[in-house]
Amino acid sequence: MTFMANLPPTAELQQKDAAHHLHPFTDTADLNAKGARVISRAEGVYLWDTEGNKMLDGMAGLWCVNVGYGRHEIIDAATRQMQQLPYYNTFFQTSHPPVIALAEKLAQLAPDHINHVFFAGSGSEANDTVVRMVRHYWASQGKPDKKVIISRKNGYHGSTMAGASLGGMSFMHAQGGLPIPDITHIDQPHWYKEGGDMSPEEFGLARARALEEEIDRLGEDKVAAFIAEPIQGAGGVVIPPETYWPEIQRICDEREILLIADEVICGFGRTGQWFGSQTYNIKPDLMPIAKGLSSGYLPIGGVLVSDRVAEGFIADGGEFAHGYTYSGHPVACAAALTNLEILEQENIVSDVASRAAPYLAEKWGQLGDHPLIGQARSKGLVGAIELTPDKAARAPFAVEAGTAGLICREHCFATGLVMRHVGDTMIISPPLVISNEEIDELVEKAGRCLDLTLADLK
Ligand code: PLP
Repeated sequence: MTFMANLPPTAELQQKDAAHHLHPFTDTADLNAKGARVISRAEGVYLWDTEGNKMLDGMAGLWCVNVGYGRHEIIDAATRQMQQLPYYNTFFQTSHPPVIALAEKLAQLAPDHINHVFFAGSGSEANDTVVRMVRHYWASQGKPDKKVIISRKNGYHGSTMAGASLGGMSFMHAQGGLPIPDITHIDQPHWYKEGGDMSPEEFGLARARALEEEIDRLGEDKVAAFIAEPIQGAGGVVIPPETYWPEIQRICDEREILLIADEVICGFGRTGQWFGSQTYNIKPDLMPIAKGLSSGYLPIGGVLVSDRVAEGFIADGGEFAHGYTYSGHPVACAAALTNLEILEQENIVSDVASRAAPYLAEKWGQLGDHPLIGQARSKGLVGAIELTPDKAARAPFAVEAGTAGLICREHCFATGLVMRHVGDTMIISPPLVISNEEIDELVEKAGRCLDLTLADLK
């Protein structure tokens, strides 16, 4: 099987897919009944399925195709690298030009106190690296008991054992006896769902101070780090109140624990700065990255490491007994480097801040007037709308959570728009290169889907 022209009929693809392919995060009964949506082509911000349906990709794949689809510069760079050196590893004192160039570029783009990177193949692997690195760091400082990482309920940090444990998704923990030991979770700063009568500012402070209470409960000598996404993505685009992050930074500084900002979604322009932690003015010790690093063209992730942590183990010499066959894969590095050059040369990150994000905020915000919407929020180019039967009360539906979201999502596909639902929250994270006209199209289609969903729910 090669390209579009040679594809078998969709029904045959769906039947083979259902027979042999185990999908991530997919309801198997639903998949078998309906068949997979088979995506076969993409360009710019648009996708096409094998039936020829065109869809605006409001999710940039899975929050990753920051520069949009069809960028020939990335494809050409990967092709050239495949011809030159398709693979070599970075273990045992070896290196190669693309990994060196990418490491240097990341050190240049990262905040001043960050000058090192450890490469992985994905965001999940990056977070597994984080757990091992944090423990290794504290051991190297003579504090091997500082092992516990505090994370947040409803956060997402990947699907490996450590990633899913760091994450606070209870339905993931329920499968396989997670979390692993020495990971605990505090409440999230989700004002819309959990803020009650507090103002967002009061609530932000209260939720940040939960970190301090958790450190007191565990004992400061046991706590290694706090990890969180600057904006919680998979949990439903939880944009923290402005009071939240400064208080978290204060607590981490005062209580001698590392601050880890999971930049897997927020990194590489999503919030209108290179990193979400810059948008919130925080100074992380570690930043796991993936997704937008290569705009998803090839799998690559990593951990950006502050001077404090890097010097912690470089100073002693010795060996960090950790690494992946594909740590710093040359072809992925070449693709990522070219992706970063596109982001830089086309001023895409500053364009998000000055054009796309304010335009999206204005248009997307108008969905808040829809009778089905309790809140429309966005920051940079991530956004959410909360479906509700009662706007004033911010109430959930009486039917099973997620039913309204699922209905809405199906209308989106039929209308030519990809939006994701997290329960009854509809979320977007479009490519950063989305034009104002395409934002108009996205919001107009979303509004139409809300009308259809409202009619279905009556
Ligand atoms: N961290 C965050 C914040 C994510 O959103 C994700 C994936 O969505 C991950 C980590 C895991 O990345 P991956 O799916 O590349 O393993």
